Amino acid sequence: MTMYCYQCQQTAKGIACTTRGVCGKDEDVSSLMDTLIFGLKGIAAYAYHARELGKTDPEVDAFIEEALFKTLTNVSFSVEDMWDTLMKAGMINLKVMQMLDAANTERFGLPTPTKVRTGTVKGPGILVTGHDFLDLEALLEQTQGTGVNVYTHGEMLPANAYPNLKKYDNLIGNYGGAWQKQKKEFEEFGGPILVTTNCVLIPPESYKGRLYTTSVAAVPGVTHIADRKDFSAIIKQAQQIGDLPERKGPDMWTGAHHKAVLSLAPAIIEAVKAGKVKHFFLVGGCDGATVGRDYYTQIAEKIPQDSVIMTLACGKYRFNDKEYGSIEGIPRFLDLGQCNDTYSAIVLAVELAKAFNIGVNDLPLSIVLSWFEQKAVAIVLTLMALGIRDVRVGPTLPAFITPNNWKLIQDKLGWKAIGDPDQDLKDMLKA
Ligand code: SF4
Repeated sequence: MTMYCYQCQQTAKGIACTTRGVCGKDEDVSSLMDTLIFGLKGIAAYAYHARELGKTDPEVDAFIEEALFKTLTNVSFSVEDMWDTLMKAGMINLKVMQMLDAANTERFGLPTPTKVRTGTVKGPGILVTGHDFLDLEALLEQTQGTGVNVYTHGEMLPANAYPNLKKYDNLIGNYGGAWQKQKKEFEEFGGPILVTTNCVLIPPESYKGRLYTTSVAAVPGVTHIADRKDFSAIIKQAQQIGDLPERKGPDMWTGAHHKAVLSLAPAIIEAVKAGKVKHFFLVGGCDGATVGRDYYTQIAEKIPQDSVIMTLACGKYRFNDKEYGSIEGIPRFLDLGQCNDTYSAIVLAVELAKAFNIGVNDLPLSIVLSWFEQKAVAIVLTLMALGIRDVRVGPTLPAFITPNNWKLIQDKLGWKAIGDPDQDLKDMLKA
């Protein structure tokens, strides 16, 4: 990446800056600074949602200011300084995810495992994509009595499990999967689409007139509805377009919030002690269009029958349309929710470790992450800050991580890049 550095002017002289615009710093420090900036963007996204729901924390705000300040070019840091800041960022992100979990459950109720219908029913409909449940709630409220149905898309799927959202009988279910399939899915959906946050593709002309953004989301040439209190334009367009066809896809499970799963804790502990459940896997994260991501489908499909699969975020669409069955009444497949619901995964791991009187790293738990964007970076920092070892990441390593920094992560925490699914699975089960 060629960057312009205002201090050394290297790029201005036609020489590509080798330190990512951080004049006088070595590449490894610059790489950790980049990681911090990406992580902060992710933290800010979660903090924004929590703030919209009425939850803030001055410690979080202070950290964001301090950490951004540390990325200025006129201060001097070592790899060790930046690593410490990254670990602080990870713990702050844990706090923010906890805050968002509290905000979501206070407003929308406690999610419970829910089987979600996919496809569309006959009648006008609006598709809601992104991550913002408040926007979805406002739309559900405003579509009451209009004859317009509402469907979730992508990371909005978990909304179907929250009592105060699923109480709306025009929330029909989910349509479509991860963001990279939007062009095909939005084209085929037929009705208007409301984009509430990031992970939206620039639309082709064919459905640009049916796409609307709100809140912090914006796309060039697309109508932006600044105030969620007035979705009348999108509702009117849904009515004008008229009936969507009847389409039925496979049902999908979601809503395995940690409180719901912990109600099964005695059964889980018994099943582990009896050798009926031998391993837990967390397979999830952001999805993307690059090759190699079928690794996650293969892993999920090959995980042995005596193991429980937990998942979250949009990476799950690669394998969440299959039937996984149960072990002694415990569902084998648990969708914890959106990427911020990594908080649920952490609580579950900590509680299970407590129940067995061992450390989290001693649990028969393997974590396989797919990374794509900034929130994934924030989550990765949280797992690192908690000292979670032997995590596998892929499909490729981020370009902003230098080989030295990857080695640092491997040395400190034993993290690995994903490889051959069969070999990785064998190694994880052995560990
Ligand atoms: S999980 Fe990541 S890639 Fe997927 S929609 Fe959410 S932020 Fe975007």
